[in-house]
Amino acid sequence: MKKTKYIFVVGGVMSSVGKGIAAASIGKILQSRGYKVANMKADMYVNIDAGTIRPAEHGEVFVGEDGVEADQDLGNYERFTNQVSKRENYITTGQVYAEVIRRERNLEYGGEDVEVYPDIPKEIIRRIKACQEKNESEITIIEYGGTVGEYQLLPFLEATRMMKSKNPEDVFVVLTSYLPTPSLLGEQKSKPTQHAVTDLYSVGLNPDFVLCRADKPATPDIKKTISNVCSLPIERIISAPDVYSIYDVPVNFEKENFGNILLQTLGLRERQKDLADWTALANKIKKIKKEVTIGVVGKYFNLKSCKDTYISVIESINHSAWNLNYKPNIIWLDSEKYENSEDKLKELDKLDGIIVPGGFGKRGTEGMILAADYARRKKIPYFGLCLGMQIMTISFARNILNLKKANSTELDQNTPDPVIATMQDQVEKIKNKNYGGTMRLGAYPCVLKKGSIAATSYGESKIEERHRHRYEVNNSYIEPLEKAGLVFSGKSPDGKLMEIAELPKKEHPFFLGTQFHPEFLSRPLSPHPLFTSFIKACINKKK
Ligand code: GLN
Repeated sequence: MKKTKYIFVVGGVMSSVGKGIAAASIGKILQSRGYKVANMKADMYVNIDAGTIRPAEHGEVFVGEDGVEADQDLGNYERFTNQVSKRENYITTGQVYAEVIRRERNLEYGGEDVEVYPDIPKEIIRRIKACQEKNESEITIIEYGGTVGEYQLLPFLEATRMMKSKNPEDVFVVLTSYLPTPSLLGEQKSKPTQHAVTDLYSVGLNPDFVLCRADKPATPDIKKTISNVCSLPIERIISAPDVYSIYDVPVNFEKENFGNILLQTLGLRERQKDLADWTALANKIKKIKKEVTIGVVGKYFNLKSCKDTYISVIESINHSAWNLNYKPNIIWLDSEKYENSEDKLKELDKLDGIIVPGGFGKRGTEGMILAADYARRKKIPYFGLCLGMQIMTISFARNILNLKKANSTELDQNTPDPVIATMQDQVEKIKNKNYGGTMRLGAYPCVLKKGSIAATSYGESKIEERHRHRYEVNNSYIEPLEKAGLVFSGKSPDGKLMEIAELPKKEHPFFLGTQFHPEFLSRPLSPHPLFTSFIKACINKKK
């Protein structure tokens, strides 16, 4: 059997310093040299998947093609390597324990007692290898959530140690660490990184590379200190300074010659790199001057960072705007403030376009419905993503069909006009509190109506997009909605599920919503066609 290589990306000092982007960039530079790579994420939480975690808590839930509800880093991997992520690319502590316990109940341990060590690390290894096999990857990159020294990371680090002790030539560890610059001193400090390295030693691992995340490139002195502490050649200490855009990271890695050194260390042949298109994009982004202003009307803004919660939406806006040579200026608008003050809606006038993104639960939705109606009346480009499509349908029903109390049964169970409701199978699931992994998830086909904005944007008659929702446009209201002028321009092949709603171009420059999440399929070098049509409409309004 052909030997395959494994690179583990672990964090030191603190999290949220761009470990996911680093792992995605490693995938990108190895792929650009013609190697078949697979990126995986292992998260330490006991949840089976990210689907039940509040976005405020852990960022966006990224949906894979097969419907896996995963950590947002899988989105980074897809955007960087343009490879589809599936269930096998994502591990959690919960999945590992659930599988071990299932096997124990099935008497698959042959009467032995089942132990945290070694049965838990063994199951982690089995999953890593299964992902490698499915992807037939030559190099598998596994990012561990959290940082070394955390209690819950121990079984994962032990899995790495077991793999490395068996195949030292095939298993590598990249420590992504942070170099703080205390303002009092004004110089980078390496001591926290040294502690992180000591933590790795204590579990029997030593880093093969240290990526130095910092606001500035690591100084030669710092690199020397870290190389001494880790007994590593200095060229394996790589600078990872703050960048203009995340798409600079692979380019910067190559400036440090990381690609070549990585391949030498892995014992793989150096190959010519092909990063030209990517580098051109990363450079172009910095030169764009003209701005387009997009307001995101949502509700998950009471958090550390909207950036994490809406990362795929933000990146999709970026990709399309950059492609059209515009720099997006994204403004976060909390929908709740529109509920008591019609006047406040006037602030939407200064925007070039509005996006209402996905969401769950009642809070804030009345404000979104008002904003959608305002956008329709004032001909401000409007793009609704999942919940945003339901919102525009409700606002259309209230204001054009005059069904003043129209709503979604998710938001008002007693509405006399449930224009958005669930399918029968979902009613059972909700009743039984069977919430985890039971929404309509993953990629489904959708047939487009000829001549519609949707069909013209895609330039195709049938597409596939990823979903994550429990509610749908209620079929009993389709006829009146269509008669009143709303066009269902995308439907499931059997015609039963409404996937895209829009107003004709002669009525409105862009008033469109999708029941799916187009943001999961936008890539830096191939922006999503609907986002591009929306941004074009925004640019036109600006002019
Ligand atoms: N809450 C809505 C539903 O479940 C929308 C979901 C979403 O925006 N992802 O259908």
